[in-house]
Amino acid sequence: MERKFIRNFCIISHIDHGKSTLADRFLELTNTVSKEKLRPQYLDSMNLEREKGITIKMHPVRMIYESKKDNQKYILNLIDTPGHTDFSYEVSRSLAAVEGAILLVDATQGIQAQTIFNFEMAKKQNLKIIGVVNKIDLKEANVSQTKKDLAKLLDQKEDEIFQISAKTGQNVDILLEAIIEKLPPPQKIENKETEKLKALLFDSKYDPFFGIIIFVRIFSGRVKTGDIIYFLNKKISSQVKEVGYFTPDLKANLEIKEGEIGYIKTGIKDPQAIRIGDTISNDENLKPLEGYRQIEPVLYLSFYPKNPDAFLALKNAFLKLKLQDPSLFFESEKKYSLGQGFKVGFLGLLHTEITIRRLKEEFNLEILATQPQVVFLAKLKNKKEIKIFSPQEFPHEGEVEEFLEPYYELEILIPDKYYDEVFKLLRNFKATIKDIIFFSSEKIILKAIAPLKEIICDFYENLKNITQGYGSFSLKFSHYQKTDLVKLEIKIAGKTEEIFSKIADREKAALEGRKIILKLKDVFPAQQFAVPLQAVVSNKVLAREDIPAKRKDVTAPLYGGDFTRKRKLLEKQKEGKKKLKEKSQISSVPSEVFLKMLSSN
Ligand code: GDP
Ligand code: MG
Repeated sequence: MERKFIRNFCIISHIDHGKSTLADRFLELTNTVSKEKLRPQYLDSMNLEREKGITIKMHPVRMIYESKKDNQKYILNLIDTPGHTDFSYEVSRSLAAVEGAILLVDATQGIQAQTIFNFEMAKKQNLKIIGVVNKIDLKEANVSQTKKDLAKLLDQKEDEIFQISAKTGQNVDILLEAIIEKLPPPQKIENKETEKLKALLFDSKYDPFFGIIIFVRIFSGRVKTGDIIYFLNKKISSQVKEVGYFTPDLKANLEIKEGEIGYIKTGIKDPQAIRIGDTISNDENLKPLEGYRQIEPVLYLSFYPKNPDAFLALKNAFLKLKLQDPSLFFESEKKYSLGQGFKVGFLGLLHTEITIRRLKEEFNLEILATQPQVVFLAKLKNKKEIKIFSPQEFPHEGEVEEFLEPYYELEILIPDKYYDEVFKLLRNFKATIKDIIFFSSEKIILKAIAPLKEIICDFYENLKNITQGYGSFSLKFSHYQKTDLVKLEIKIAGKTEEIFSKIADREKAALEGRKIILKLKDVFPAQQFAVPLQAVVSNKVLAREDIPAKRKDVTAPLYGGDFTRKRKLLEKQKEGKKKLKEKSQISSVPSEVFLKMLSSN
């Protein structure tokens, strides 16, 4: 089909505002998926997405729709996106593949922090944005206010905002027509290279039979089975095995061409050969498209396979996951008694949790994970500056001039009646308010600066609780700021167990140390003798607990019977205990303790 009959767009919004449900209605209206097959949030095809009820991946789908206005057939390429901040890299990559975005707002919630955040991303991409108020079927819906707020945010007139129910389908047909009318078709790239293939690789996945399948937005030219394609950044080439569209399952086609979104089966097996954001062409000398900015992880931790022999399997799993999740960072390391593992980096705690779950469910790999940590800096007396990714890299106090920690800018959107509570909460999380903006008649935006290590803990849950679900926030890196840090060490029977170490605020170290040893005490199996647990900073014990000795009742099977034998046995037990105690100085921690302390489920 000609370019002018193609529309490419994303659905973006705050989490749970109804993106995937709206996509369902589009699939239904365009007969892309039959009624019998269509189940709620159809595009959420990963098991984990269905179980958690959230979208984790972007999901492209191609729909053919005959407009009621001009009886003309159009190709509508839709990309459904995740709403949670941890997956915003998925959103930004989707936005680069389309010309327009539907910005959805739940009328019972109103505008939320991610509404603004996603809107700003779409604006930066120069996308045409259609504002839509959703869930108008609900009694609690405040349609007029939400419409007003959204119009203001988009700088549009109120009557340009659509109001729909993605659930009942009310007005979704009108919205579908508006997509054709309001969104621009793909533009012609006006230069002499236009006839040559230029496609943006925006996503990919590993297929055990076909190797790597890449998802592309074609900006110019065309590609068909058998063609030789070049990856302009990676400087590799391959012969195309198959091309086609997302229905949303892969459906082969003779060719895919300019303006379209589709897939290419590359036959490439090595995941490291592929880089998301690369440009695909049939001429290796073309200049690549801009691609994507590299994204830096927000927090780091260590992963060790529960089964130490599974290191290579874990490496392969990471490589395959990275094809779908380019924000994942991993690097092999060998730091603890747990064998070989990885330093891994994530965009947030949900991202971490989801990855651990995917490793388990898709690759059958169970993981031991250390505490996630932000990246600290240390300015050393020798004028060098180092990054500290884990407690093991913590420098000797004597070498350090000063420590720095990352501060983030928070944009918190709340109904104004919760101001006092949120103000208190921010103080507890060491945040300083920089600005208050009156967003609408009832909502305010608080701009604040806070240490990231505080925020990643449980700021989100706290904010949700005190605002009854109506508060939300977004995060952006701000700067590094001076801080007072110590390395908190955990000693078990006098011996430091590095894997439980933690970098903490000096003033909070005692409290945090106590928390860790109480948890340890909880999971530590009783031993023949007492085991001291200590939280230590610079050789000073800040907290101590003991695992009490278990008295193994060796006489139990003898009942009342022979007393001499019983005494003998007790003496023998005493002997044994003495020996064990001597040994205990070198004995290691039972492996189940690691499992219980470091397993995430
Ligand atoms: P997403 O996170 O933006 O993709 O949101 P989902 O599509 O997963 O929807 C979140 C929840 O809102 C689900 O329970 C949907 O059934 C519900 N939902 C979505 N749209 C509507 C609507 O128009 N009306 C009502 N009543 N519920 C809706
Ligand atoms: Mg969704």
